Amino acid sequence: MIEEVLPGVFRMAIPLPRSPLKATNSYLIWDRERPLVIDTAFNRPECRESFVSLLREAGQEIDSVDYFVTHLHADHLGLAASLARNSTVVYFNEPDLPLARPDDAYWAWMGEIYEEHGLPLAVSREAMDRHPGRIYGPDRDFPYTILQDGDVLRKGNYTLRCVQAVGHTPGHMCLLAEELNVLFCGDHILGDITPNITMWTGMADPLGRYLSSLDMIAGLHVSRALTGHRSIVTDCAKRIEELKQHHAWRLNEVVAVLRDGEQDAASVTPRISWDLRYERWDDVHPVQKLFATGEAIAHLQYLATRGVITSSKRGGRIRYQLAPDAQNEHVHVST
Ligand SMILES: [Zn+2]
Repeated sequence: MIEEVLPGVFRMAIPLPRSPLKATNSYLIWDRERPLVIDTAFNRPECRESFVSLLREAGQEIDSVDYFVTHLHADHLGLAASLARNSTVVYFNEPDLPLARPDDAYWAWMGEIYEEHGLPLAVSREAMDRHPGRIYGPDRDFPYTILQDGDVLRKGNYTLRCVQAVGHTPGHMCLLAEELNVLFCGDHILGDITPNITMWTGMADPLGRYLSSLDMIAGLHVSRALTGHRSIVTDCAKRIEELKQHHAWRLNEVVAVLRDGEQDAASVTPRISWDLRYERWDDVHPVQKLFATGEAIAHLQYLATRGVITSSKRGGRIRYQLAPDAQNEHVHVST
């Protein structure tokens, strides 16, 4: 089913089989010459079939449109490269480009980095073998057209300005439809679930960068945020405040756990609250364990950057401890 969410803008919800995300919201912006599709879905046959049939419902074929992909995750980028013809333009951002199609060496390297944070290599290897980013990513390299913050595209009745809002990934890019002050926000802001913020090699303090990007978006006073998954956000200021409070809560949980003494990220992870159903942490799916550990690391890095905690590396293992000033029980971290 397609839904006209703005004049000349259609939402196509592409189902993601067996994914807790349920579907990716792909948006088609009508244009007399080349309509633009914002985000696709996993590179898997079921998604391709849904995508092509919804596009036809909107009166388009895969070779009549160009693509803008908000970020590197396979549930947004995966299909774009395999759908694109040689004449198709696929707009993308520069910082995410090296990770658009990571090789086996990258995944092995990530396993070693997680091991430094205490996650056993057997868990991360199993997670990476089943990781959607590895299985459903683009099947080929593609000459993406790189856009920078502030660049402008004109499609249909809209002036679309690139607004780089990083943190969810190193280069995550939104598009602001200036005429209506509506933001195509990818996974920067989600309504029913919280965007995953994880560690990135080559990006210091991803959570800090994410929270700053949220503040920057709050300053735009957008009227609606057209999200990458689930429902559209109509009260953006309220949702941004909720997301900030969610991270403040988690940061204070991490501080509380470290009151018991020095620990690595993999030991902190099971002791903070997650929106997952499980009785024993050992029963959690390895991919979810990897995501949760990455998120815990991002929170630990945020606290370390602000001097609330310190880290030390011994025997190839990174451990975190509260800074002397933060031993006081009344220390409260706000975002
Ligand atoms: Zn994402």
